[in-house]
Amino acid sequence: MENCLFCRIVNKEIPSRIAYEDDLLLGFYDIEPKAPVHVLLIPKAHIESLNDLAVDHSILMGHLTLTIAELAEKLGIKESGYRVIVNCGEDSGQEVAHLHYHILGGEKLGDIIAR
Ligand code: AMP
Ligand code: ZN
Repeated sequence: MENCLFCRIVNKEIPSRIAYEDDLLLGFYDIEPKAPVHVLLIPKAHIESLNDLAVDHSILMGHLTLTIAELAEKLGIKESGYRVIVNCGEDSGQEVAHLHYHILGGEKLGDIIAR
């Protein structure tokens, strides 16, 4: 989608520090990290939020879920632990309307990390 920041990152129109990439997914470091390790894992396809998922996305989302631990291992936080956050909609503070999974770790995390 033309005006979507994360689609532009997927299309390499905007630079990012890539942590993981395959045909369906992109993982890249958050520009304002909230923890020593903070990576965003996204489907390359433009899906606005969890609210926009349909049965057709089952394989994609299964693949994304399975990739989280693989990526955590690559990031060196699989054994120490990590948190996965998905904001959805206004009350959550979702800022970018392209589904993204925050993967946070690298230290003991506090009770809540807003985003
Ligand atoms: P959310 O509030 O859940 O929508 O999270 C959006 C996240 O995208 C925030 O943590 C931002 O720091 C991050 N972000 C915004 N622009 C960029 C960018 N150009 N590259 C990497 N991360 C970004
Ligand atoms: Zn998008």
